[in-house]
Amino acid sequence: MTPNWSPYWNEKHETLQKDQLRALQTIKLRRLVEHAWHCSPFHRRLYERAGVTPDQLRGFDDIRRLPFMTREDWLGNQAEKPLFGDLITRPASEAIRYHLTSGTSGKQPLRVLDGRKDWSWIADMWCYGFWGFGIRPADTVFFAFSYGSFIGFWGAHYCCEKLGCLVLASGNMTTEQRIKQIVELGATVVCATPTYALRMGQTAEKLGIDLRRDGKVQKVIVSGEPAGSIPAVKKMIEDMWGGKCGDTAGMTEIGTIMIFECDHQPGGPHIIEDHFIEEVLDPETGAPVPYGERGERVVTSFGRGFIPLIRYRTRDLVCKVPHSRCRCGRTGDIYDGGILGRVDDMKLIRGTNVYPRAVESIVREFKEVEEFQIVITREASVQDEITVKVELKPDQQHIWPQLSVRLGKDLADAHEGLRFNVLLAAVGELPRFELKAKRLQDLRPAN
Ligand SMILES: [Zn+2]
Repeated sequence: MTPNWSPYWNEKHETLQKDQLRALQTIKLRRLVEHAWHCSPFHRRLYERAGVTPDQLRGFDDIRRLPFMTREDWLGNQAEKPLFGDLITRPASEAIRYHLTSGTSGKQPLRVLDGRKDWSWIADMWCYGFWGFGIRPADTVFFAFSYGSFIGFWGAHYCCEKLGCLVLASGNMTTEQRIKQIVELGATVVCATPTYALRMGQTAEKLGIDLRRDGKVQKVIVSGEPAGSIPAVKKMIEDMWGGKCGDTAGMTEIGTIMIFECDHQPGGPHIIEDHFIEEVLDPETGAPVPYGERGERVVTSFGRGFIPLIRYRTRDLVCKVPHSRCRCGRTGDIYDGGILGRVDDMKLIRGTNVYPRAVESIVREFKEVEEFQIVITREASVQDEITVKVELKPDQQHIWPQLSVRLGKDLADAHEGLRFNVLLAAVGELPRFELKAKRLQDLRPAN
């Protein structure tokens, strides 16, 4: 067990010099590809088609010889050979967990299985993040999470048991019940999506509970949405809860997190590089982009034995910067600003690119805003319109005339002068979310 005073969960690996880290990753990569070659017929076909064999992986850059794997490949394989395809490396009977992707994008969900060893690894990755943000065995950790088939915070729950924290599960509770238990049991850490952390804070205010005064929360760990690294969203969460907000991000395909914020918070989360290779590539050409430029995350995960994930196209947009940005001593590089959105999230409105996360980061600068929604329509079959509907806090309605003008101007300034319609929604009119928010509605006819 890591000593309480150490800032690292795995000091040796988290502080490895870059060349040693690359050597470790190269050994792990070769071992992983050999495993996939022998045990996953899906991967064997993929590599044979690409004319690549495991023995060709001699140096770190040889990873580029390997073909990509996509979500479509995975879904296609499951559809062809239900339920799990021949991608898995062991008989399904050896699994101990079954999970699905959240399906928030309306797409068919992916099915995943994990064995006992995988599950233990999944919890260990969360330990890197929780420990790195300062969570210790004496903490009481509340999970505002529904514990269903979506993997979400499942791994984090097991991580906290492993750390020796007191774990509070809140599966079937209402938002009010959750807030009351957080206060009553003196939870010191709360885990939720950023959207739901805000919603719990707003609900507490309505209940007359001052979380800063009545609660003991010191840390809010968020995950599941890109908003967790938007400074204005973080600040709102911290103002409501009175604790520091730390971002993490993972994906069901990996089963756990691959990035986390350390307690120095240098403006983005560190990559757990001893367990993942995170490439950042041009989404069109597949060529690597340099530090400081936006590109698509392509992940290779060393931990999940049941499902090899090798050069998986995530469609997440990121901007990698060197680890030296942070002074914590970790040598895992940093994703500046966290996950910046999805490659497919980009909307083209009258010739201007609009990313929902960028809109959110502007809207959240206004603390009077309780909820918002982005609606895209096509008028008279030609003109695309983008509208931001804003719901103000009940006692802030009077601010609308000034706020609407400023918001409209800030949105336009950030989007090459593109005009956004800004509309006031009635109190309680806009949808609320517990897991991942779906705040964008594109009502244009599909081409
Ligand atoms: Zn750091």
